[in-house]
Amino acid sequence: MTPTPVFSLSGKKVWVAGHRGMVGGAIVRRLGSEGCDLVTVSRDQVDLVRQSAVEAWLASEKPDCIFLAAAKVGGIQANNTKPAEFLYENMMIEANIIHAAHQVGVKKLVFLGSTCIYPKMAPQPIPEHALLTGPLEPTNEWYAIAKIAGIKLCQAYRRQYGCDFIAAQPTNLYGPGDNYDLESSHVLPALLRKAHEAKLSGAAELVVWGSGNPRREFLHVDDLADAVVHLAKVYSDEEHVNVGSGSEVTIKELAELVCATVGFQGSLRFDVSKPDGTPRKLSDVSKLHSLGWSQARPLQVGLTQTYQSAFG
Ligand code: GDP
Repeated sequence: MTPTPVFSLSGKKVWVAGHRGMVGGAIVRRLGSEGCDLVTVSRDQVDLVRQSAVEAWLASEKPDCIFLAAAKVGGIQANNTKPAEFLYENMMIEANIIHAAHQVGVKKLVFLGSTCIYPKMAPQPIPEHALLTGPLEPTNEWYAIAKIAGIKLCQAYRRQYGCDFIAAQPTNLYGPGDNYDLESSHVLPALLRKAHEAKLSGAAELVVWGSGNPRREFLHVDDLADAVVHLAKVYSDEEHVNVGSGSEVTIKELAELVCATVGFQGSLRFDVSKPDGTPRKLSDVSKLHSLGWSQARPLQVGLTQTYQSAFG
């Protein structure tokens, strides 16, 4: 059952911060059907790390609602080698936008987190209340600490000033705007590209990193955008909300699905010299379901759409 809406986007001025990114871009696409007045700004015009620039922008625009999808992002390698940039830039972006949003009276703000906020040894599926119950994965703790601070800022401004600021917590995403660089991409775009190129070159095999046994959850970024727009309308509380598909596949199953989607008929070879990473990372989406939202695209459907738009 869908809860009664608490906020309407229709006719409202809405700023998507981070509209050039994969998530921000999807939110912009999704808001196209909400009848709102959408505003965006480029990095050349407003550097979100600079407080005075953010304050001036928000004072002049005075949006009713903000989707905060701007962040410095990167894979394990970038996180590990640039800890200062990941911690500093993400904390500044969040603090600047959330504080200035309060100053100019923004009525709704939706902050986007990341699954790495949860403790490395969190129970599976991971419930929202697992936050801050144990040590983080050390390789991305800089980014995670900044994202946890963002969630806490939303809670603090709600408690002290009554701001309707909420936080959504997406799982692993895929879809338009993804990174297909084999060195720095995540597994799903990497496998799509590898299978496509293997098919074109007539290769006999496709190399999959690790054992193929780890399990991962995947959500199409357009489903994420739909979920956060839904949450903006129906949710108003302190605790963040997990946004995921609620189902998982092994990397081997994913590779098989990708090969079937692409039409690559060779064999899979598992390169166990590459790391497996976390064995399992699945969100508990019972709260999201109770708020009346569940994913529209099964993985097979989303994969086909993504393959066609990226390589078709
Ligand atoms: P994670 O979810 O943070 O661990 O990040 P990834 O999406 O990069 O990796 C998920 C899993 O997929 C790991 O077990 C990887 O070893 C495995 N994997 C298999 N093949 C690939 C590949 O070609 N690229 C990447 N990035 N991961 C791969």
